[in-house]
Amino acid sequence: MKKEIKVLISACLLGDNVKYSGGNNLTPELVTLLEKYNVDIVKVCPECFGGLPIPRVPSEIRENKVFSKDNRDITEEFLAGAEETLKVAKENEVNFVILKERSPSCGSTHIYDGSFSGNVIPGQGITAKRLTEEKIKVFSEENLEEIEKYLVELDKN
Ligand code: SF4
Repeated sequence: MKKEIKVLISACLLGDNVKYSGGNNLTPELVTLLEKYNVDIVKVCPECFGGLPIPRVPSEIRENKVFSKDNRDITEEFLAGAEETLKVAKENEVNFVILKERSPSCGSTHIYDGSFSGNVIPGQGITAKRLTEEKIKVFSEENLEEIEKYLVELDKN
């Protein structure tokens, strides 16, 4: 029997109200794509895994550390969330990962610059970086075409 495709995904992209504001980042096109390929989904929120509450003060990365907007160093919580996410990814033997772009945890190619002014710079969030270090393939919700190509390849096997 064909093996199911398993994907670990930022829970906020699927409509879970886990983001700092208490809202979500539901991306209907992503949901449609996942349904088309009958993907088995593993949902995570690294910041929740790190013990941070919902809602919470927004945070950004500055000089390799994470600070909340009220200037608390919350790097430890982000590191803990990244380790737990990695553990879940490994335990579930996921084929790849889709994480929310620009988040200080989940951003895979871009993040905010740490000044809380909306400026975006190239870089990765703490969890995206940790998973990439472990050679896990990370996409964002902004790469649906690439994700579909990857799914087509996996579906052939
Ligand atoms: Fe979404 Fe990731 Fe932020 Fe959780 S940590 S709300 S999954 S972007």
